[in-house]
Amino acid sequence: MIINPGIPERKYYSKSYIQTIKKEEKSKYIKCKICNIITPKNLNVTHCYYCNVCVINHDHHCTCFGKCVGKNNCCTFYTALVTIPLYMVMGFITLVAYAIYVDEVQTQLRRQARNKH
Ligand SMILES: [Zn+2]
Ligand SMILES: [Zn+2]
Repeated sequence: MIINPGIPERKYYSKSYIQTIKKEEKSKYIKCKICNIITPKNLNVTHCYYCNVCVINHDHHCTCFGKCVGKNNCCTFYTALVTIPLYMVMGFITLVAYAIYVDEVQTQLRRQARNKH
C-alpha cells in the first residue's frame, strides 16, 4: 500500500508537453484545474481531494489505509481486503484450539493427581 497509487508521469506536468497537444486533439485530453495538468482521457485520471493529487484509474480514497487506490495498488488493496479477514479468522481458530488444548491438559493433570491419592 506504500507504493505510488498511480500519479501521472512527470511529463504531464511540464508546460512543453501541453504545447505539443494540437488544438483538434484537445477533446481527447482532460484537464485538472487543481494540479494544472492535461492528461489523455484514456488514462482515466481523477483528482483526489484528500491527497490533492491526480491518480490514474482512481478507484477510491481508502480512509483505513489513508491512501488512494488506483492503477498501481488496486491489486494489493483487494488482496489485503481478502487476506486480512482470513488471517483474523485463522488467528481466532488458533486461539480457540489452544484454549481447548490447555483445558484438556489441565483436566488430565487433575485426573492424574486424583488417581495418586
Ligand atoms: Zn488533480
Ligand atoms: Zn487519495
